[in-house]
Amino acid sequence: MRILFGYQNIFNRNLRYVSSKSVSYKDTLNMPKSKFASTMKNRIKCENDIRQKHPVNQLWEWQSKQIHRPLFVLHDGPPFANGPLHIGHFLNKIQKDIIVRYKLLNGNRIDFRPGWDCHGLPIELRALQENKRNSDDKDPIVVRKLARQFATEALEKQKTEFQSWGILADWNNCYRTFDKEYIIDQFRLFWRLYQKGLLYRQYKPVNWSPTVQSALAESELEYNDKHKSTAIYVRFRLKNNDLISKLLPQTNLGNIYALIWTTTPWSLLGNQAVAVNEKLKYLFLKLFTSNDIYIVAESLLNNINKFSPFSNNQYEIIGNCLGSQLCGLTYKHPIYNDQTNYPIIISDHVSDAIGTGLVHIAPAHGSDDFLLSIKHNLQCVNAVNLTGHLNCPSIEFLHGRNALDKNDGIEAMLKYLNSDILYHYELIHSYPYDWRAKKPVLILGSQQWFIDTTRLRDNARKYILEDVKIFPEGAGKSFLSMTSQRPYWCISRQRYWGVPIPVFYTKDDKKELVINEDIIEHLIQCIQKEESIDFWWSSNDIKELLPVSMHNQAENLERGKDIFDVWFDSGSSFNTILKDFNCQADIYCEGHDQFNGWFLSSLLLSTGIQARAPFSNIFVHGFVVDKNNQKMSKSIGNVIQPSDMIFGGGKEKFNENGLDVCREWVARESYKPQCKASGEDLNKAHKRVFDIRNVLKFLLGNLYDFKPDKHRISNENLVAIDRYMTYCLYQILTKYHNDFDQYKMYHGLIAIEDFIQGDLSSLYCSVTKDRLYCNPSNSYLRRSTQTVFYLLLKCLNERLAPVMPYLAQELYNELSIIENKGNKINDVFENKFTFLDKQLTEISSELASTMSIILHLRNTYHEILQNRRAILYDIVLYLSDKAKLQFKQVQDVLGKHPSSVKVDFWHPLEELLQCSRVHQRSLSDLENDLIEENISSVDLPLLDDKFNYIMKIQYSSLHSCPRCRLQVSENENELCVRCFSYSQKS
Ligand SMILES: [Zn+2]
Repeated sequence: MRILFGYQNIFNRNLRYVSSKSVSYKDTLNMPKSKFASTMKNRIKCENDIRQKHPVNQLWEWQSKQIHRPLFVLHDGPPFANGPLHIGHFLNKIQKDIIVRYKLLNGNRIDFRPGWDCHGLPIELRALQENKRNSDDKDPIVVRKLARQFATEALEKQKTEFQSWGILADWNNCYRTFDKEYIIDQFRLFWRLYQKGLLYRQYKPVNWSPTVQSALAESELEYNDKHKSTAIYVRFRLKNNDLISKLLPQTNLGNIYALIWTTTPWSLLGNQAVAVNEKLKYLFLKLFTSNDIYIVAESLLNNINKFSPFSNNQYEIIGNCLGSQLCGLTYKHPIYNDQTNYPIIISDHVSDAIGTGLVHIAPAHGSDDFLLSIKHNLQCVNAVNLTGHLNCPSIEFLHGRNALDKNDGIEAMLKYLNSDILYHYELIHSYPYDWRAKKPVLILGSQQWFIDTTRLRDNARKYILEDVKIFPEGAGKSFLSMTSQRPYWCISRQRYWGVPIPVFYTKDDKKELVINEDIIEHLIQCIQKEESIDFWWSSNDIKELLPVSMHNQAENLERGKDIFDVWFDSGSSFNTILKDFNCQADIYCEGHDQFNGWFLSSLLLSTGIQARAPFSNIFVHGFVVDKNNQKMSKSIGNVIQPSDMIFGGGKEKFNENGLDVCREWVARESYKPQCKASGEDLNKAHKRVFDIRNVLKFLLGNLYDFKPDKHRISNENLVAIDRYMTYCLYQILTKYHNDFDQYKMYHGLIAIEDFIQGDLSSLYCSVTKDRLYCNPSNSYLRRSTQTVFYLLLKCLNERLAPVMPYLAQELYNELSIIENKGNKINDVFENKFTFLDKQLTEISSELASTMSIILHLRNTYHEILQNRRAILYDIVLYLSDKAKLQFKQVQDVLGKHPSSVKVDFWHPLEELLQCSRVHQRSLSDLENDLIEENISSVDLPLLDDKFNYIMKIQYSSLHSCPRCRLQVSENENELCVRCFSYSQKS
């Protein structure tokens, strides 16, 4: 193909203005008519009106009765009932609503019960705070009453706001983790796990928040990169034994020290051993200033060369050995003056990345340390108590001081250790904090309940790999690694606001565990009778908590004081809420942080009791960030309220967007790890929805006189461009459903939106405008296009509905009038998707190649013209002989219509190209024409050998018709033949 910019100067010619004088032909045209407003103003009122006429609860009731439909279960991850909703909640619930509404239109019945996570420390603390009591309040019943009240009020407020967003869900059947049915099922779940040996109680180091005095799960930690610790180099004096003389045969040896580096000086109180790596090389350094000898790993020598007494190489190396050779040495405790021989032991976890290569081991204060204590039979000694104060009654100077306080416990430790500390400095590093209290945590040994995740994780991984589909693609990788990483899961907490772990212990020193099925069943009966579990704390007579058969043991028993971790609460939701569905949901849909939270706790518990995952699909959405990609946080002050986004205002100065626009934003953003919520992003969404609205309004307006039953033209009789559009529609719908079925809602939506703005608006609506407006109302061409407009409007509206339900309902109401559905207009979601018949929409190879050639010509033409009015120009096509034949076929196919129908004044070629006229010439004429017209050819590369042509563009010699505005009249101000003919008739 060659393109010639023929008559390159034509654009500069003065255009002659063609006036229609005073004659108005407007009344002779079929201009679009509809009540559908083009404006986006008053969106809130408009959406509210729609919601009043089509209440969500009515739709929910209707759909619940469609029992013949296959069920789709979306299981709601319960948000915490502890305060106002933020933009993250909005994104989450709208995303769920989009999924649910899609499934409903796709022919499913939905189960979607909103839920709330009502227990836990934040609620307990907030409740106490609101009531101006401190958290030391020891009356559990008061605490529980306040917390329950707080949670109930908070969740009711949240519920009202969720409902105001028009979320389609079972709002009359919400679940709460403090409901008695929920607790009863949780007790049974606990018992089943216990019976399977998946639960155990053990003394273990756990993350402990001294601030709230409770164990914390890994997911309740937040790492502070700027935490300041006091790091120390401290020496432990070795005891003399035979081994030393083997390693250092010299005589006159002074004191020999192991040099230790630690960032938690307080933990030295719990020290029980020193670990070395057996493969590392260690040196013996003898100081020049004294006879003292220090042991340090060779590769870490640089660390100590910086400070006295090692600086300036004030030492000589008098020997070396491997770590394995140090094993068997013993040392004197750095704090306590006891006779015990504390050992040097081997451990792989010691590296030469940091410190001295000799690691102090405090089994109560580290998980590696704890594992070593089991292997080497070391004692677990807690250096601190539950409030984080040093625990050493025998050393008055230290006892009771705040371990983490630089000016208290740390300073006292430095003073106490005095000369044994060779160097100390402030270290800024990442350190775990209690994510709610925002205070540093400690690792502390305590008796806790655990789930044996090591026995569950292989199966859990298998389910993730084989049975669960995770969307978006690739998001599941982190889930796999998080499932593998968790060494154990501590499920007990030492608070009041939660579900008690239903066990008893003997009152004697052994504190033996007492639990059996009778106890569980007895407690369940009590819950049913009392309507709550408060009696666990309020009951003064322990007999009330025990089955009759155990009353004789009552005196020797006491009730457990632990409650379940909230992740156990919420993770067990499948066991209650999905009971009727085989304890498995079709989908869980939450933010990606839940891979380490609710997704994981649910998966582990489900793996434990039912040997499968509680979900078959997971959709993971991102976190909302501000315009600078920063996480929303109260302290930065960049938190966006959902109401600002919907109703307008706020710091971002949002427009009055309404729900559809905000939902469109959700659908386009939610799959990204970071979902940007800026005024600019919402304005873009606003514009997209507005543009879509206008294209659909155009379709609708042109259907005012179209009755589908009466005027519809069968698919095989549609003229070329109309038939081609049904084919395009079929393609786009197929893509949409593939995407939505794969939870790629964003791709499906973008495809539909691009189609509306592209092929539909720029091509189809432009080229058919003339026949719709200017041909007689009942003309064949007009009805052919209206048939396709109707189909497009119906199908596209349904596909937009899950994302923009209000726009969809508005259009649906108008469509119902066209369809003559009578006065009662139902909800757009009471329909199923309209699907097109693949065979009917398939196009012949002739039509396909015709459309490919014609669209190619059209694009070329419009590209050359840029924004000039295409109708003012003629196209001259110089064609090869082969192309001539092809072009003849193009014209035949484009103009094809049923022989029974008379179609007058139709120029399909010009209609599609939107030019004045198309002239055909032979390629052989080109040379002559160029000479005649005195222009030199521009040699452009041959682009396409399938259809060989050269296009020349020239001003049309015809005039604008005052009625149709096409450049087709023979004389100025005269009607064209068609318009003349039609205006005579009318
Ligand atoms: Zn005309």
